[in-house]
Amino acid sequence: MEVKADQIKTNFFSLSFKDLQNLLKSQNLKEAGASLLFNYVYKKLEFSPEIPNLSKETKTFLIENITFSLPRITQTQKNTASIVKQDTTKFLMAFPDGRRVESVLIPFQGKYTLCLSSQVGCAMNCSFCYTGTQGFDRHLSTEEIVGQVVSALSWLKEIGIKERVSNIVFMGQGEPLHNMSAVRKACEVFLSQNGLSLGREKITISTAGYLPGLKDWLSDPLPVNLALSLHSPNDNIRSELIPLNRKYPLREILSVIQKIPLEKKRFVTFEVLLIEGLNDSISFAHETAQLIKDLNPLINLIPFNPFPGTTYTRPSDKAIEEYKKVTESYGIATMVRRTKGDAILAACGQLKS
Ligand code: SAH
Repeated sequence: MEVKADQIKTNFFSLSFKDLQNLLKSQNLKEAGASLLFNYVYKKLEFSPEIPNLSKETKTFLIENITFSLPRITQTQKNTASIVKQDTTKFLMAFPDGRRVESVLIPFQGKYTLCLSSQVGCAMNCSFCYTGTQGFDRHLSTEEIVGQVVSALSWLKEIGIKERVSNIVFMGQGEPLHNMSAVRKACEVFLSQNGLSLGREKITISTAGYLPGLKDWLSDPLPVNLALSLHSPNDNIRSELIPLNRKYPLREILSVIQKIPLEKKRFVTFEVLLIEGLNDSISFAHETAQLIKDLNPLINLIPFNPFPGTTYTRPSDKAIEEYKKVTESYGIATMVRRTKGDAILAACGQLKS
């Protein structure tokens, strides 16, 4: 038998469950092999087709044609020096072409949330974001997005941590809706009962307001949570913060979001990055609440995380509390995103390759 070089094999992590079924079917192999392999890989974290019950033909086909290669974790950084299990950990993940992205594991109520990157760098160039300063390099493929999760899970397994990764957020480097097809398929793997089997409400995609991606979401609804980086209720300041807003102004974005069907008990999260003296005033809080109050909103206030070279500063805790009181007075559940990991530049907007 001729075994192909890894580079020309199909990467297992690029395949949805359906893709694998179709692939096996196209070879006249039993589709049932797909669920055996998917469950083995994603539930047991064993990366090989040497599985009991898999037919010899299927095994041979998989060995010849499929690789399980993953991004390599080249560096891990913890928020504290002590060996605390429940600690924020930042990974630098390297791909075969030498590009690297960061993924961050964030402890949350005895479980973990994993923050993923969707691109190397980012094209959005937001004024408050460290990633934006490095510019756009390239999109990540499905296998590179799924690979970040599998590599992080393997790392946890290796160091003997039993706590689960229960939530996935696309809030690392990149604009996920600018890379919709790869992100969409990665979500399929995360949601698949044979794959990671995460609940729909456990995955959140955060966007700066990339309208073509939102329209795609609307025409073929993605069954996960949507978060919009709102940051300002008026276009002037929003355009200063997010240059993309000049091309796709807020009203257009909100009108598409309004049309996206929400399932029961689901919300749209509006992230509001608060910068001292720029958008943290009480009158802004009122304007924000009035703008979104009818959209099933949940507000996530994100105090600005500073990084080298920025001129922005974080508001006082008091100013943040005052803002929160106002939005809550409109009946909007409002949370302050506690900064985790900023000692290692692993907090929102601090990720750079
Ligand atoms: N491109 C996506 C996701 C990436 S960032 C988006 O724009 O939504 C995830 C969140 O972190 C966004 O709400 C983003 O605005 C916020 N963020 C970026 N830089 C930040 C910083 N320096 N401090 C605090 N939050 C920041």
